[in-house]
Amino acid sequence: MTILAIHGGAGGDGEWRGLTSLDPERIHCMNHVLTSIGEALESGIIDALEAVTQAVETMEDEPLFNAGIGSVLDENGTVTMDASIMNGADGAAGSVVNVRRIRHPIRAANCILKQGWPVMLNSEAADEFAIRNGVEEVEPTWLVTELRTKQWNLWKEKNARPGATDEDDSVLDHDLEGMGTVGAVALDSEGNVAAATSTGGMTGKPNGRIGDTPIIGAGTWADEHIAVSCTGVGEAFIRTCGAHRLATTHNSGLGLDKACDDLLSAVEPIGGRGGVIAVTARGEVATPFQTMLMYRGVWKHGKITIGIGPNDVDLDSMD
Ligand code: ASP
Repeated sequence: MTILAIHGGAGGDGEWRGLTSLDPERIHCMNHVLTSIGEALESGIIDALEAVTQAVETMEDEPLFNAGIGSVLDENGTVTMDASIMNGADGAAGSVVNVRRIRHPIRAANCILKQGWPVMLNSEAADEFAIRNGVEEVEPTWLVTELRTKQWNLWKEKNARPGATDEDDSVLDHDLEGMGTVGAVALDSEGNVAAATSTGGMTGKPNGRIGDTPIIGAGTWADEHIAVSCTGVGEAFIRTCGAHRLATTHNSGLGLDKACDDLLSAVEPIGGRGGVIAVTARGEVATPFQTMLMYRGVWKHGKITIGIGPNDVDLDSMD
């Protein structure tokens, strides 16, 4: 059995207000990821680790998600990106923090994982390592989109707290598009699972801020039983060791859905509403969230489901 699940970030309060004019593009991207990478995973051309890498790379290339091109801007108006990846079978992991000059942070994290040591690299050294290992180099300004610049200008004008315009933003659709971190979890035909997560963080984040996304055990985790990728206000996922907490509660006998609920109720009181995707080596998959929405999709047995608000999207009506 093979499974691929992806997310494109969680956020927002209140009632679901329906799809916006930009959502078809995001749905198209998620559908493409699930179809092409799901099939390659099922046919055994790629394993779980490569599937999550390629899934996240493709979403990093979609400017409407908050990773790679289209990442949100920090307090200085610059894109700084974080990513991490973990392989369940051997616990190998790789992570980059605060990269600015590469197109695919998740490929850089994958290169670190494959090299074996160290696990994390930061800033200029991480960019240099990635470029030396064949990750595509880009100008920092190439990563900045008009939409994110407008969002940052609004954040600046309002003198808002970091991330405020991510949830209250008249510039972008859904009023919360600073969210949009991307992630993937997969189960391959060998029974191995892997997880990957990539983000630009939060609009206006302080220079040097590190969220949960590049921290193994906070935003990303995989072991021989389960793979997990989280999204939401990162500090709460760091403080709860979110992804690892979910794995531990699941692996000690709690059902997958209950283990996800346990994580989401642990982050909520400390300001960490969000969502999570998880896949188990037994072939279970979960994509819960406690926000207004979470971009998410699952490929299982060749069947694709995609959702944004509470219900799945009717893909037949999409085009
Ligand atoms: N967790 C990410 C961070 O705190 C943001 C997100 O998932 O939306 O950097």
